Amino acid sequence: MKLKVKKAKKELFQQKLGTYLKDYEKTKKLIYEVGFIAEGSVVKCYMRCGKKNCRCHKKKQYRHGPYYQLTWKEKGKTVTRYLSNEIAQLYHEWIDNRQKLTAMIKKMNTISLNARECISAIKMINDPLLKAKKTSYKSQ
Ligand SMILES: [Zn+2]
Repeated sequence: MKLKVKKAKKELFQQKLGTYLKDYEKTKKLIYEVGFIAEGSVVKCYMRCGKKNCRCHKKKQYRHGPYYQLTWKEKGKTVTRYLSNEIAQLYHEWIDNRQKLTAMIKKMNTISLNARECISAIKMINDPLLKAKKTSYKSQ
């Protein structure tokens, strides 16, 4: 009877582990498709020019632009650089790719954690000594 329960428990964990493996492989394939990545963020801004009598100095709506500004952190400092419209579009895409990649890594981390728990549960069922050690440790 006890052996039957053990076997059923083990099968359940192995089934779970199989699901985690499938999820993990699926995420890995998605990572393979991610294009270039970039750090930082792009902001759209409107600027005043150097000519003092230009209308851009009078009202915000007359400011020139849009211009795109890339901001990122380097050694703890914020760095800014202007981008052409075309490059700004690329950066939008690359920053988006980076966020997707970060989310995928986070997901892989969670799946790995679940898998590790499953693997140690299976190991404990396989090796009663491990379980005995753990329970005796708990009861103290
Ligand atoms: Zn102006």
